[in-house]
Amino acid sequence: MPLIVQKFGGTSVADTQKILGAARKAIRAAQAGNQVVVVVSAMGKTTDHLVSLAKEITDRPSHREMDMLLSSGEQVTIALMAIALESLGYKAVSMTGAQIGIKTDSSHTKARIRSISTDSMRKALDAGKIVIAAGFQGIDDEGNITTLGRGGSDTSAVALAAALGADECEIYTDVDGVYTTDPRLLAEARKVSQISYDEMLELASLGAGVMHSRSIEFAKKFGVTVHVRSSFTDTPGSLIVGTPESNTAVAGAAIAKNEARLTLVGVPDKPGNAMRLFARIAEAKIATDMIVQNIGQEERTDISFTVPGNDLTATLDVLKTVSEEIGAERVDYQKNVAKVSVVGLGMEKQGGVAEKMFRAVSRKMINISMITTSEIKISTLVSWEDAIETLRAVHSVFQLEKTPSQLHSQELSVKPAKQVKPELDVARISGMEDILIEAIHLDQAQARITMPNVPDKPGIAAEMFERIAEAGIVVDMIVQSCGRNGKAIITYTVPRTMLDIALGVTKKLAGEWKSDEPLHNPTVAILSVCGTGLRSHTGLAYRMFKTLADGGINVNIISTSERNISITVNNAQGKHGLQLLKKEFANDMI
Ligand code: ASP
Ligand code: MG
Repeated sequence: MPLIVQKFGGTSVADTQKILGAARKAIRAAQAGNQVVVVVSAMGKTTDHLVSLAKEITDRPSHREMDMLLSSGEQVTIALMAIALESLGYKAVSMTGAQIGIKTDSSHTKARIRSISTDSMRKALDAGKIVIAAGFQGIDDEGNITTLGRGGSDTSAVALAAALGADECEIYTDVDGVYTTDPRLLAEARKVSQISYDEMLELASLGAGVMHSRSIEFAKKFGVTVHVRSSFTDTPGSLIVGTPESNTAVAGAAIAKNEARLTLVGVPDKPGNAMRLFARIAEAKIATDMIVQNIGQEERTDISFTVPGNDLTATLDVLKTVSEEIGAERVDYQKNVAKVSVVGLGMEKQGGVAEKMFRAVSRKMINISMITTSEIKISTLVSWEDAIETLRAVHSVFQLEKTPSQLHSQELSVKPAKQVKPELDVARISGMEDILIEAIHLDQAQARITMPNVPDKPGIAAEMFERIAEAGIVVDMIVQSCGRNGKAIITYTVPRTMLDIALGVTKKLAGEWKSDEPLHNPTVAILSVCGTGLRSHTGLAYRMFKTLADGGINVNIISTSERNISITVNNAQGKHGLQLLKKEFANDMI
């Protein structure tokens, strides 16, 4: 018999009428011949309310007791949902995380799922009951109640679907699907019918907050089909799958509005410095993004990165200490910046996306102050006032408002480059939510070019990458960061065979712009670690830097995404780096 998991979020169970509405959806699924497991959140704003009650007593309630408190919200909903189903004449049974056997680690308020036992749910399902499971909660080895972190019931739902081998996991929410960008910001945003796990992961982390990122990691690891749809209508929503039916170069655009950019200027360019910086920041529990380490001049390099705006002061404190420790020249920062990114699986095989994006932004006379790319994402940093205009320009240049079938055939439509791996067998994994490293690669055929001191004004990146593309060159990594004296530094990598042509084009541009001669390194290697959960397990980038630093290997440019962290090193050290990383991550590989 087919089995579906249906998850109802807080707004979908905000009052008893809505709970009855959700119960009817479960009944309809049961009548259609499915076994049904319903996962619910706490009603409406219950969790917020519980948090504020504890805060009325103390600013620092213990994490164990917070879990005890917060888990009560979901317990109310499961009981009411079961009562609703019974009142409508259906057999139902409610179960807490502990009753189901959702085992987690003991990190209260942000626990990770280790395993799920399906026996009690199966028994109830086979007895013809609808199972109502409390989302967001589990139990540790000592029997303490744990919670998975705010928004965690999405993760509970997808994890249950994985453990039960469900045919689909429906996420009922207050939006009717996944959009090409946040529809509250751009009216022309379009609901997509399908999107891939990887794209969704990037979009979620970029602030398109439809779902808890960890739930998508689960879906990807175990091959769960997720259907995001509205609780208040019957129209189909969006499917999140491994390989979407139609695949465009750009699937969506996202914005993170409240960011701050920091630069550690004049860092002595030797192994271990980047590692020390990011270790200190991680200790302060600050999430960094858009990390760019530029190519050094006179044995010194600048490291720039972004953090959420709220963390600016805390980050400045950390930088002050680190800067003295490692002998950097100074700290520089910019408040009120926004990150606008495009994401798409098709980008892997299709050039042309970067320059098209940069051109669209420059046509609006908007200046890009930083750029980073990963294999399926390009991010630009712009000032806060320009953020929405940038998003609109980018959304429109890739025609995201049109369905892929409306696009002309020659438009950026390509097949996905990498097939998604066959999903894992739940039984083979005991730490269901552990980080999973799929591969560690070494690409030794790269060269790097750096343009120091280019004018920092609209259109520079567009001009540069259009000219490089016209010469038939496919660029791999691109980073732009803030240089000294208000100038920008742009670095990119190309296949080594293309170096001479790329250098020719770049030198010509330097002449036209009267900027410094480009620098280059004809033999660089790219080391990359790919997997699932790279970003939600924050220590990974640190482990990678530390391993290389301990091995005396200097890291140059860095690019991070949800499924990949890539860095360039000197080619001579590539093989050694690969061996060190393989050893370090041996226990995390499939
Ligand atoms: N009730 C929890 C929260 O508000 C879990 C969830 O809704 O996903 O964060
Ligand atoms: Mg939620």
